[in-house]
Amino acid sequence: MANFDLVILGGGSGGYACALRAAQLGLQVVLIEKDKLGGTCLHRGCIPTKALLHAGEVADSARHSAEFGVKAEFHSMDMVAVNAYKDGVISKLHKGLQGLVKSRNITYVEGSGKLVSRDTVEVNGQRFNAKNVVLATGSYAKSLPGLEVDGKTIVTSDHAMHMTHVPKSVIVLGGGVIGCEFASVWKSFGAEVTIIEALPHLVALEDESSSKQLERAFRKRGINFELGTKFKSATKNAKGVTVTLEDGKSFDAELLLVAVGRGPVSQGLGYEEQGIKMDRGYILVDEKCRTNIPGIWAVGDLIPTLQLAHVGFGEGILVAEEIAGLNPRAINYDGVPRVTYSEPEVASVGLTTAAAKAKGYEVVELNYDLAGNGKAQILKTAGSIKLVGEKNGPVLGIHMVGSRVGELLAEAQLIFNWQADANDVAPLIHAHPTLSEAMGEAHLALAGKPLHAHG
Ligand SMILES: Cc1cc2nc3c(=O)[nH]c(=O)nc-3n(C[C@H](O)[C@H](O)[C@H](O)COP(=O)(O)OP(=O)(O)OC[C@H]3O[C@@H](n4cnc5c(N)ncnc54)[C@H](O)[C@@H]3O)c2cc1C
Repeated sequence: MANFDLVILGGGSGGYACALRAAQLGLQVVLIEKDKLGGTCLHRGCIPTKALLHAGEVADSARHSAEFGVKAEFHSMDMVAVNAYKDGVISKLHKGLQGLVKSRNITYVEGSGKLVSRDTVEVNGQRFNAKNVVLATGSYAKSLPGLEVDGKTIVTSDHAMHMTHVPKSVIVLGGGVIGCEFASVWKSFGAEVTIIEALPHLVALEDESSSKQLERAFRKRGINFELGTKFKSATKNAKGVTVTLEDGKSFDAELLLVAVGRGPVSQGLGYEEQGIKMDRGYILVDEKCRTNIPGIWAVGDLIPTLQLAHVGFGEGILVAEEIAGLNPRAINYDGVPRVTYSEPEVASVGLTTAAAKAKGYEVVELNYDLAGNGKAQILKTAGSIKLVGEKNGPVLGIHMVGSRVGELLAEAQLIFNWQADANDVAPLIHAHPTLSEAMGEAHLALAGKPLHAHG
């Protein structure tokens, strides 16, 4: 086989980003994918879920149209049409991505690959040898011991993407990002939804104030949840499933979604045999995504960093540039923006109050309520922007709740990553009336000169 500069195993966000950037830098690349180019994010993750959430938003707009003086009626969901819309979005992006890979002269190989030596991947009986091997095999939806996913009554997000009807009732096991997004979708589609979460809060990795606001908003929307209580068992019956918790409570529903996290795809792929250091299936890497074996790299959900598509993109680009000798800067993972795209959205960048205190910062906090923001009133959304700052120092974290606040992260991440303080941001004039004005107002208030804020 021809000699390549790098062979990449897995064509998801991490793998294809690495391939595109490496090819752009003049390297000879082979990209191996056993399923569809684009991976989880494009086919089973970010894109389909956000299309479903948007369909839910349209349904809610129809339901609440009278509040805006519009005479319309919500009738029902047509899941065949919803899926056609969602699949149309995926298909267009998939075609675009395939064209991009082709145009960069990347050798694309379809098939299941295995690492057979420290510089060789075998696929379909063919061996691809390269100076560098990038492992990017991603992750899968986990379940709990004794909880068998059948794809019909007990499902994971992989199955939930393809529902052909709206279930009357759903239990969502896991109140993390994926669980809360599906709870939001199904409530909008008209199902009765109950979330079961073992931790004390929904989206427990977020600042506690964001979790509490999401819980308040979900309660208002009629989404039920049980917090701080562990799953014990699930029994299928004629009507669906009964879930019992360790505290003795039990719940019945037509469908159970298991959303208890994702594990790395690393079994049986030759990683251990080649001596790559791993922990619970995750590949361990340094700040440049290098494994302990020279010439072998790993990116994306396969390594124990944030399981987000844009983190995979960033790591893939980092590895390509490092291989090309550009010596790129390591990623600051605190500076990665995070969004839960439920209604309302939860978005953040930087440190939570608890994390900032744990790091020894003298913390100041500022809560700007969206009640004071004109656009938020027009949209009829509630929520806030919370700033966590170092006393007389930079902004350490920005935490937001409300419809569409994910769009405000573009500015929030610049503020955090450029280590701006309140006085740097306060003089910047924000367009009126936009939600982004709330970002300006929060910093005005933190700088001691609140405009549309009490106190
Ligand atoms: C329901 C859901 C919603 C999500 N929403 C978001 C979101 O809104 N925003 C966000 O940033 N992230 C989101 N994510 C996370 C995001 O999808 C992942 O972080 C991202 O896809 C990880 O990219 P990756 O390249 O590491 O892995 P993957 O995308 O999983 O790609 C790995 C690829 O490797 C291939 N592969 C595996 N083994 C082999 C083999 N032996 N040979 C050849 N190919 C192989 C697989 O087929 C796959 O295509 C979501 C995930 C889910 C499940």
